[in-house]
Amino acid sequence: MSVRVRFAPSPTGYVHIGSLRTALYNYLFAKKSNGKYILRIEDTDQSRYVEGAIEGMLSSMGWAGVNHDEGVVIDKDGKLIEKGEYGPYVQSKRLPIYKEYINKLIDSGDAYYCFCTKERIDKIREEQKAAGQLSRYDGFCKGLSQEEINDRVEAGESYVIRLKLPENYDISFNDVVRGNVVINTQDMDDQVLIKSDGFPTYHFAVVVDDHLMGITHVIRGEEWLISTPKHIYLYEAFGWNKPQYVHLPNILNADKKKLSKRQGDVAVGDFVKKGYLPEALVNYIALVGWSSEDNQEIFTMQELEEKFSLERVSKSGGVFDINKLNWVNSHY
Ligand code: GLU
Repeated sequence: MSVRVRFAPSPTGYVHIGSLRTALYNYLFAKKSNGKYILRIEDTDQSRYVEGAIEGMLSSMGWAGVNHDEGVVIDKDGKLIEKGEYGPYVQSKRLPIYKEYINKLIDSGDAYYCFCTKERIDKIREEQKAAGQLSRYDGFCKGLSQEEINDRVEAGESYVIRLKLPENYDISFNDVVRGNVVINTQDMDDQVLIKSDGFPTYHFAVVVDDHLMGITHVIRGEEWLISTPKHIYLYEAFGWNKPQYVHLPNILNADKKKLSKRQGDVAVGDFVKKGYLPEALVNYIALVGWSSEDNQEIFTMQELEEKFSLERVSKSGGVFDINKLNWVNSHY
């Protein structure tokens, strides 16, 4: 089976060096395995879209030399103008695909219409919180008849579509970095899959796309580990093969806290402006959370492509050290 990986940024702002590292590890793993690295823009949360973010991301990746292998090019009117090598996939242009797949889940009884108002949901959540319980949807709309659903849809009522999780069911998966993860559905929510604006949620779109795009390894930041059981359950509901998961530990500051803007530069664009060499930033960022067997420190991109391995991704967060970056930069 040939390796296919993806970098799937949401266009919500500037490109953080953590995103560059995620993209780079995907890219290096693809190169090392003679596989393909694709780029997918995850813009289904239209409220978080930031103008210019896609262009900024493309230019940062181009600057760093982390170029994707394939995709479709879509013109400004949303028309697919070329199927071929260098355009990213864009989720907001794929709505009919998500519709087709949600209908399959509704038909198989794995998803259901939910007409509950925001007020009602907020109220249940507050009551659950006050009772010290996990905040989750109470399944109120799970048993609606088809007739009632049709009437309410026809009457123009707003609705979402939720995943129907079975009660008391263990979901498990193996993560290359984290090992075996098991969670019971009693600790999970009937996740919204299609929002009231008709757009899919991240959770639904990511699974449909990873499947349709033949993704074999999902390499992403550890903040998504908690979402993975929802994704695993969707694979099971569809009867699809699951990818291998690799959740990358965060990039940390010197105090071992998550690296944030308050401590200095974190946007790739900041390093570009300051005149760092792309080779140096890429070389250094590869080493924040990964090391080669012989602890080499200065690499060309080609050497990284040859030496990278998922097995040597660190299990704890890598520390970003500006002095080390400066040292690497001075070697180019
Ligand atoms: N769109 C998500 C993000 O911006 C990607 C998560 C994933 O790779 O599945 O981080």
